[in-house]
Amino acid sequence: MRNNRLRIGARNDGVPHHADIAVNGRFSVLCLWTLIALPMGLVIAADLQLIPDAVEPGERFVVRVVPAANRDVAEVRASVLGNPVKFYPRAHTWKGLAAINAGAQVKDTPVYVKVFYKDGTSFQDIVTVGIRPKRFPTQNIRMSSSKTGLMDPGLLRQEREQLYSHLANSQPEPLWNGAFIAPCTGRNVSSFGRRRYVNGAWWGQHSGADIACATGTPAKADNAGIIVLAETLQMRGNTIVIDHGFNVFSLYNHLSSIHVEIGDSVQKEEVVGKAGATGFVTGPHLHWEIRIGTIPVNPWTWTQGELVL
Ligand SMILES: [Zn+2]
Repeated sequence: MRNNRLRIGARNDGVPHHADIAVNGRFSVLCLWTLIALPMGLVIAADLQLIPDAVEPGERFVVRVVPAANRDVAEVRASVLGNPVKFYPRAHTWKGLAAINAGAQVKDTPVYVKVFYKDGTSFQDIVTVGIRPKRFPTQNIRMSSSKTGLMDPGLLRQEREQLYSHLANSQPEPLWNGAFIAPCTGRNVSSFGRRRYVNGAWWGQHSGADIACATGTPAKADNAGIIVLAETLQMRGNTIVIDHGFNVFSLYNHLSSIHVEIGDSVQKEEVVGKAGATGFVTGPHLHWEIRIGTIPVNPWTWTQGELVL
């Protein structure tokens, strides 16, 4: 792993250094004799790691925080590209899943991390995540005039806010088991991240994968979780959102029917609805998303192996 740490903050050797000292949320540079005189309990650094430390736009990484020994953590906060990262306790560490927006144009970007200890002290650090270049293909879509009435910014905003309200809280434990599966079998007709124009106007990057499944094809849960949304939206059509825990959600759109209700626990491969063509579509398909919080990520990555936290 390359060294992605900036100068502020903890080092990895377990030996206290000047910059490791933070008391009451402020960094204090102390001369060596002061450091030696301090009881070890005041050295409240934390060790930070990004796994992996470089990703493509639209991909995820884990922020792993190992708190100072014998210190109880109250909360860990972090942000990357302005997006907050949610942390959950895991054994002796705290971990958060972070994602880089598919539209990110930067090469490397800082991850700001702050650890709040229960004794009122805190520690903050900055680590850098590498962003590998990726070019997403462009797609031009012709939408019939019967659907273009849905291309209303106010409607889009309202639906986005409604969706986000269901992505605000997640189960604190990962509920998934093994790799995720595609909800139905079919051609991948529009891949994640495509740069889309609708009737010649910029529309945005594709937030999911479109799988060519005929109307009525069973849509299976891509992994275990709890249903947090099951209703008809104007753009997204009949929609299901599954909370997989740890701030991971999957979304199914344009379904012809919904077979679950909010609060239902679902197992991987359980049928949750049927593919269809409801909402803003040119034809039947299943639009499948995986999001970390509100950030869409490439769902196919999740089918390639289990994310172990
Ligand atoms: Zn789609």
